[in-house]
Amino acid sequence: MGRTASAVRDRDGTMAECKYNRVILKISGEGLCAAGGRGIDGEQLHHISTEIKTVADLGVELAVVVGGGNIIRGGQIAKDSPIETVTGHYMGMLGTVINALAVQDALEAMGVSTRVQSAINIDRACEKFIRRRAIRHLEKGRVVIFAAGTGNPFVTTDSCAALRASEIGADVVLKATKVDGVFTADPVKDPTATKLEKLSYDEVLDRRLGVMDFAAIDLCRQNSIPIVVFSLKQPGNMRAVVLGEPIGTLVSTAE
Ligand code: UDP
Repeated sequence: MGRTASAVRDRDGTMAECKYNRVILKISGEGLCAAGGRGIDGEQLHHISTEIKTVADLGVELAVVVGGGNIIRGGQIAKDSPIETVTGHYMGMLGTVINALAVQDALEAMGVSTRVQSAINIDRACEKFIRRRAIRHLEKGRVVIFAAGTGNPFVTTDSCAALRASEIGADVVLKATKVDGVFTADPVKDPTATKLEKLSYDEVLDRRLGVMDFAAIDLCRQNSIPIVVFSLKQPGNMRAVVLGEPIGTLVSTAE
């Protein structure tokens, strides 16, 4: 697992030294909708797809885990709703398939070759998740979009990102957020909040920092997969992270 970094030829012909060669990107469903909105917003979809293309153009192997929070989260089903929580989780997973198909078409419209693999079989819309096939797609230069999370209720797509990263031997999990990394407090609400540049997995767990689900952090720790938390809002950020620029917050083993 974890191949060494190498120089790759950017699709515009220039040489670029990538820090990571096989990358899992986790984007939340909220990244696909307008602030405070629901569903899929054309502008946001275009922005995310453009950013993903900049990484694909580096020639690195890129897989994307798409969330579904812009559609439904099982954990947020109202207590008095006739919809059971477990059903809500399945609905959430299906929501991620809707998002994955949108991202697929947006990328393909930009000339990026993709495959969607779903953890819940929806054979008419996309492939089912098969680890070896996913790796083969990556080796052929296709962006693989993982849909339907883990296929199991009561977890989130963060856990899916850590799981798939562990399964395919990814060098890093890129966790795209609205803010530029992990802060001491919510920077939107607290102007004194400061950014934490580097953290160990243990610090994240012990300080209960809201980076990703604890199960996801723990799985990355077990498999020594670094996590970079960064803002997707800033154009060029994702590409810069893959090239090794010190953007966002790096979570890894303590030095
Ligand atoms: N979900 C699930 N199992 C998984 C992944 C997702 O049950 O493996 C459900 C869960 O209800 C979750 C919802 O799908 O809240 C949407 O995913 P998530 O909350 O991770 O989306 P994001 O916040 O990243 O948009």
